[in-house]
Parts: sequence; C-alpha cells; structure tokens
Amino acid sequence: MQGKPVGFTTSIPMEILLAAGRKPVDLNNIFIEDPESYRRVEEAEERGFPRNTCGWIKGIYSAARKEGLEEVIAVTQGDCSNTHALMEVLEEEGIRIFPFAYPYDRDPDLLRLQIQKMAEHFGTTLKAAEVVKQSLEPLRAKIREIDRETWEGNRVTGQENHYYQVCASDFRGDPVLYEAEVDRFLAEVAKRKPFHGGPRIGFIGVPPITNGIYEAIEEMGGRVVYNEIQRQFAMPAEGRGLVDQYLMYTYPYSIYGRLEDVQGQIRQREVSGIIHYAQAFCFRQIEDILFRKRLEVPVLTLEGDKPGVLDQRTRIRIEAFVEMLNG
Ligand code: SF4
Repeated sequence: MQGKPVGFTTSIPMEILLAAGRKPVDLNNIFIEDPESYRRVEEAEERGFPRNTCGWIKGIYSAARKEGLEEVIAVTQGDCSNTHALMEVLEEEGIRIFPFAYPYDRDPDLLRLQIQKMAEHFGTTLKAAEVVKQSLEPLRAKIREIDRETWEGNRVTGQENHYYQVCASDFRGDPVLYEAEVDRFLAEVAKRKPFHGGPRIGFIGVPPITNGIYEAIEEMGGRVVYNEIQRQFAMPAEGRGLVDQYLMYTYPYSIYGRLEDVQGQIRQREVSGIIHYAQAFCFRQIEDILFRKRLEVPVLTLEGDKPGVLDQRTRIRIEAFVEMLNG
C-alpha cells in the first residue's frame, strides 16, 4: 500500500518516491487522460493563465489542483521555463513544491547531488532507490519488448507504443498493477499477425496534446514505429545504476544528445519519414530548425494547441506526407 501521492511536472527519478513509500503521479498523464482535458485548460485560463501559454502547463496546473495534491516536484531545469511561474502559482495556492534540476551539461556529480537531495527530502536514500530500480528492471524490460514488437515484430501500433511507454513515467502510480496490464497486453500481442506495408514513420517531440494523430497516420497507410520522447520516458538504457539511467535519458539535456539518439533509431528502425510534433507557444519549436537541418529523412512538423480531435488541415498535411513517402 503506497503513501501520499506526489505529483511531478515531467519525468523525475521516481524510484526515490517508490523507495520512500510515496505514490508517483505524472501530472501530464492525469491531465491528458481526463475526459474533460479541454475544460482543464479553460479552468487555468479562467484563473489568469494567458491564452498564449502552452496547453500542457495549463493542464498540469489544473490537474494538480483537481487531484488535491499536497506536494509537487517541479523540474526547474531540463524541461520548461514556464515551470518556474507554474510552481510559484501552485505554491501560492498552498501546494508544497520540491524543485528538481537536471544539469544542462549532463554533469554526473551534479545529477547525483540532485537525486541525493531528493532522497533526503522524502526521507529515503540513494541506496534504497537503487534497490527499487533493480526491482523495476523486469517491468522496464517488458516495456522495451513492447517497443521491439512495434518496430521489429510489427505487431504493436504506434498508439499502443505511445501509451505503454508514456505510462512508464509513473507506472500509473502502481508498478505492480501496471506490470499486470503490460503482461495482459504482451499476451494479446503474441497472438497477433505482423502488420504489413506502409511507410515507416518516426514521431519525435513532446507527446501530442491532440487526439487521433496515430490513428490518422495508420488509416492513411503509414506505420509509426518509433516514438522518441515516450521511449525516453521508459528509460531505454539497460543495466545501469540510477544516476546513469537519468544521465542516459536524453530529454532534459542538450538537443545534440537527442539528435544522436533519433538518428540512431531512424537507421535501426528503417524509418523513412519523421513527424515532429511541436506544441504551440513552446520554446522547443525553435529546435525544429535543427531537426530539419540534421535529420537525413523528410520531416513534417505539426503543431497542436489545446486538447481535442485532429483538425482537417492537419489531417490533409499528414495524408500528403504519407503519400509522398509512399512514392
Ligand atoms: S510543451 Fe513546451 S512549453 Fe509546454 S510544458 Fe512542455 S516544454 Fe513547456
């Protein structure tokens, strides 16, 4: 039985929370799985969040309030500068904030220090978190198997790949229950026949706020065989200690590490085109310049703003891209 939930604004070493007997809650997942996620954005705007700020920030804010959380870990470096203002507003509303910073230069000593500070704050130790990390290895290996079944076994869809990897950021609050869900899914996958044909597409950038992108790509004959950031949330590097695991995680550090990772995956998975999802009002949109310049396959950039279904214009752009890749 787990103790009080602790929310967080993006992936953090949640092994610490588990070692401390706390329940990890990724606020992004709570927001986007809310059947009224659109309403959560509106609520934040009603409380004064500007229209021209990112929908994820507004959604995270409302999710933290709706969940009635007492404590939130705010990632102040390595994610999003908007988080600074978000944490100040949450603090003002009585939510305790613990700041966590990924060192931009990937310095292992600084990262170790951050993890140690976090362990002390939650009343546990790095050593106890290492034990939790080891105990999670079989589950992480199963999630890697889902990913392998996506690009090599060709029996898992892009949407399924997205879901099972994105949930690895908090294991839906309970790794034991989540592992049972993963086991059921893998048993079902084992009975499937491989999917055939279609251009192999990679999806990079933050997870989309818009519903239906994967389904649209697959309806049009494309196959998403790679989800960059979702795969990172699942911690794909095997057999390392806790500090190393979060050093190998590319998302919080320089874009050049991400580029190297994406280029390697494009080759391994035989990806013929990349869809780069960029969130409206996000500083990461600027990184599109580098992805377009450096990636060796065609790139389609899509932008989403608020939760909702895929708009017609974006659908037509995806269709044209899939047709182009089909040659
Ligand atoms: S999508 Fe961009 S602006 Fe929005 S929370 Fe993520 S990093 Fe920040």
